[in-house]
Amino acid sequence: MRQTPTGDTGATLDTDVCVIGAGPAGLALTLMLLRSGLRVTLVERSTALRREFHGEILQPGGQRILDELGVLAGATARGAARLRGFQVLERERVLLDIDYGRLRAPYDHLLALPQPHLLEELLAACRELPGFTLLEGHRIAALLQKRPDSPCTGAVVNGPDRVPVTVRAQVVVGADGRFSKTRALAGIDAGRRDSFAHDVVWFSVHAPGQATGQVRVHRGEGSAVLVHDTHPDRLRIGWTLPHGGWRGAVRRGIEDIRWELAEVLPQYADLVHEQITSMADLTLLDVFASHAGEWVRDGLVLLGDSAHTHGPIGAQGINLALQDAAALHPVLVGALADGEPTARRLAPYQDRRAPAAAAVHRMQVMQARSLFGGGGPAAAFLRARAAAVVTRTPIGAKITRKVAHGHDPAGVRTDLFPVLHVNRSL
Ligand SMILES: Cc1cc2nc3c(=O)[nH]c(=O)nc-3n(C[C@H](O)[C@H](O)[C@H](O)COP(=O)(O)OP(=O)(O)OC[C@H]3O[C@@H](n4cnc5c(N)ncnc54)[C@H](O)[C@@H]3O)c2cc1C
Repeated sequence: MRQTPTGDTGATLDTDVCVIGAGPAGLALTLMLLRSGLRVTLVERSTALRREFHGEILQPGGQRILDELGVLAGATARGAARLRGFQVLERERVLLDIDYGRLRAPYDHLLALPQPHLLEELLAACRELPGFTLLEGHRIAALLQKRPDSPCTGAVVNGPDRVPVTVRAQVVVGADGRFSKTRALAGIDAGRRDSFAHDVVWFSVHAPGQATGQVRVHRGEGSAVLVHDTHPDRLRIGWTLPHGGWRGAVRRGIEDIRWELAEVLPQYADLVHEQITSMADLTLLDVFASHAGEWVRDGLVLLGDSAHTHGPIGAQGINLALQDAAALHPVLVGALADGEPTARRLAPYQDRRAPAAAAVHRMQVMQARSLFGGGGPAAAFLRARAAAVVTRTPIGAKITRKVAHGHDPAGVRTDLFPVLHVNRSL
């Protein structure tokens, strides 16, 4: 890495790829590129991976990618809970049982893996490799482009002291999440779709001895509460509220919220009353979906949530982010080896992954309808029939495989890990 101090205007770094955002997508891609011999500068706005809560259910497809990268065992050793599958319950009666035990081992379960454990393990693996530069506490401020329609040649990122650092790169990867600044700076529309009628309020309680080994969705009249075990000896709870319902809940105050929660989850009422004492114990997830029309431009790629965002139903976001990284890796390595990181060369990544993201969106819309739908006795009968099919038949096993591994799952191209000659034009 060359570093050129430039006085008041900060430093200039030269790298092959500048990845914005050290979430699952950005870190996994960084590790793959480093192992292929590329230089990567990773820019992350938070420090010490202290990010807001971001969910932790990891599907088998994502587990497989982490395993292929050799980081799954280390991440789970930091603490994780193994879960057998998803269950939907109505008044303690199991309506739907998606049993991952029907899948092929070792990827025959879900993992509740706290994101810091996953991210720290990926970061530790990156730190072992040459060519890695981490700019923590830095935010993207601008893309380096002569004109808005000319190729991207890097990014300007601002540190905690607001001193800019210019990162010159052959490609900038926007992996900065659902409110991606990289995407906004490129003038790419997020393609937001308000497909879901509910937001989710997340919290967790210490609950030793109360593990269920499942992700359970307790269905009530027009609402649902999700509960799963998490590390260490805790239950993670997601309470769904109609869009806009949070403002009313805040007005009513924490005491009222505790009573409402106790009503939908009577079995955990004591834990909620003891441990949820202020609004600061709750995190609101504004649930929406998005799908950007353009994921690749000359010298620029969008990855993970910045390209497509999903609702929380079926826990697909981390899975998709990791699979995106695995699909982008060979495309990027090939394009850089030829010194041609153009939209045309990067397009196979979008061509492969956009259908996978679109398939998840379609599935989530259907799942939301069946989870929250009313519709009277006829609709309830049809829902029960559909649930019986998923629970008991081979079609159900096929659906479970799709949910667990995704549409066209990408594996890690470990054959590209030996150091590769790169045509460096910088
Ligand atoms: C509350 C909640 C619960 C969820 N539960 C689940 C679940 O159980 N299972 C599941 O699979 N998915 C879940 N998701 C979705 C999942 O977290 C995301 O799909 C996944 O993290 C996407 O990974 P990513 O790397 O693309 O983006 P992110 O994980 O969002 O990472 C983006 C990174 O970019 C950084 N960043 C943002 N802006 C800038 C900037 N301007 N400059 C520099 N860095 C920046 C952020 O700090 C962050 O580290 C949940 C999401 C939320 C919010």
